[in-house]
Amino acid sequence: MTHSNNTAIALQAHPDAASAKVAAMVPPFEYEVLRSKRKTMVVHVRHQHVQVRAPKFVSDKDIREFVVRHQQWILSKLEHKAGQDAQRLDLRDGGRIFYKGRSLRVCIVQSGTESIVTTDTEFRIATRIANAASAGKTLQRWLITQAKAVLPARTRALAAHFKADSRLKEVVFRKTKTKWGHCTSSGRIQYNWLIMLAPDAIIDYMICHEVSHLLVMNHSAKFWSLVETVCPDYRSYVKWLRKHEHRLWL
Ligand SMILES: [Zn+2]
Repeated sequence: MTHSNNTAIALQAHPDAASAKVAAMVPPFEYEVLRSKRKTMVVHVRHQHVQVRAPKFVSDKDIREFVVRHQQWILSKLEHKAGQDAQRLDLRDGGRIFYKGRSLRVCIVQSGTESIVTTDTEFRIATRIANAASAGKTLQRWLITQAKAVLPARTRALAAHFKADSRLKEVVFRKTKTKWGHCTSSGRIQYNWLIMLAPDAIIDYMICHEVSHLLVMNHSAKFWSLVETVCPDYRSYVKWLRKHEHRLWL
């Protein structure tokens, strides 16, 4: 399941794009060029990073021209991402955390024993040193403990329900910048433990999504109808993630 902050446009270079004016322009942001065997150019905007993937035969000048032509689109993406980054998890005392679909006030308390307690309005982190870095480590340990307690057991149960338990080899945890979950063809399911901040229904949807990949590796109609058999409201969860997931990033 891919995090939607990775936005891309696949665009063909304009055949009539040879204007010297455009070629002489320099875009107001940096971009990275990645050349490969691909046949078309594509721009990826992820967080505040712009990456152009281009065929090997395209010149630097043509790439710059391509970027200049699409700079309005890229700038609007960068602006949108900056707005999203401002909404990211803020672990300072008095900051905000988006937990189980509610925005709670972070309260950091110094204590020899780590703990996290939530109320209707507060997310209280007791941690060894009263600062954001220490609170972040406490939160990380807390989320990993929860992820290990919940995700493997539910994943195995659903795999058994799908009669796909023999295909499930292992469940592992990793924090990545782009994925909530991932399922390999060898039957290894990987989860991002930050998903434990999301509402339970979203967590269940993510498990359902990855376990369904044990049977269907792509996102075809067949895949979604399998998801639907155990998660009939999946469309609303996909929508929720698209709208809110940037708020769960640490
Ligand atoms: Zn998927």
